[in-house]
Amino acid sequence: MAKIKPFISTGILRLFNKNKLPVIAGHKLLYSCNLKCKMCPFWRRKDEKLLTLEEEKMMLRKLSELGVIFMGFEGGEPLLRKDLPEILKESHERFHTSLVTNGLLLKARFNEIKKYLDYLFVSLDGIGETHDEIRGVKGSFNKALEGIKIAKDEVPLAISTTLTRENLDEAEKIVNLAEELDVLVNFQVAYDYSTADKMSPEKEKLRKVLERLLYLKKEGKPIMNTKEYFEAILNSWYKGIPWTCKPWLTINIDPQGRVVLPCYVLNEYTGSKRIWEIDIKSLWESYDWKKYESCNKCALSCYLEPSIFTWSNFSIVKERIIDGMISIISTSLGL
Ligand code: SF4
Ligand code: SF4
Repeated sequence: MAKIKPFISTGILRLFNKNKLPVIAGHKLLYSCNLKCKMCPFWRRKDEKLLTLEEEKMMLRKLSELGVIFMGFEGGEPLLRKDLPEILKESHERFHTSLVTNGLLLKARFNEIKKYLDYLFVSLDGIGETHDEIRGVKGSFNKALEGIKIAKDEVPLAISTTLTRENLDEAEKIVNLAEELDVLVNFQVAYDYSTADKMSPEKEKLRKVLERLLYLKKEGKPIMNTKEYFEAILNSWYKGIPWTCKPWLTINIDPQGRVVLPCYVLNEYTGSKRIWEIDIKSLWESYDWKKYESCNKCALSCYLEPSIFTWSNFSIVKERIIDGMISIISTSLGL
């Protein structure tokens, strides 16, 4: 019988902890990508310098000592890294490990990585040509779909969709596709990076789509976002009732191993030191998080969902902790 990962017990205790410390880590393995999505600033960056495999391992050991529970790898396109299986293996021994991919190389590389994944996200930003147009490469929808079909029966999988002004009309079609494929779909809303074209959806049209997605969620459609996620955006952006952002719950590490503060969106500070050279506890205690509490600029689910988590809200506790833990325990036991 497979061993239950230690984070299952320590993770529950960490969520009770009053001290500000990260629980989730996001690491951009690289900026390079085999797509050129309109809304993405990363493939445009010229400053890519990667960690070696040994340095990746040093980073993971540091995050483990810090008490991080959830490790998410992203890019760029992570499947472009040849040493990805070794990195995921090291992570999987310590954390709940997830990966975000555009799916182009999934068919070719899934067998190398599948046993080290607890969750896989495949990005789809529309159906057929809409996706190809946004992602900048013809045929990318079909390749991603092929990858999803290969992977979905072997690892828990969700489609990851960024809502932009070009695909708002297809949000419900993507929910239907997820239902057909028997996977979940997780939505984010595009925001205007300084380096990318203006892609944020038109405000009123977005409101209608968010309300519709909230309705579909309540109807039991396979939407991964909590209903509180949609409610928080609707309340903040349309009624002026903000959520309290807690970017300190997530630690972001760039391809060079540097910690990005306060979050990848604002990216106000990238220190010159790499994560294993820094006293993270002191940095987290001394950093002025307060001024970001009312930011509400982005609705990235990796920041918003943990920020609105509360033990007194039963539906979030049930969905994120009870159901999540059952699925983690089942996976750990190989059920
Ligand atoms: S697939 Fe992801 S990393 Fe690549 S260009 Fe698109 S959004 Fe950026
Ligand atoms: S809401 Fe603001 S502080 Fe919070 S993650 Fe988004 S950009 Fe960063």
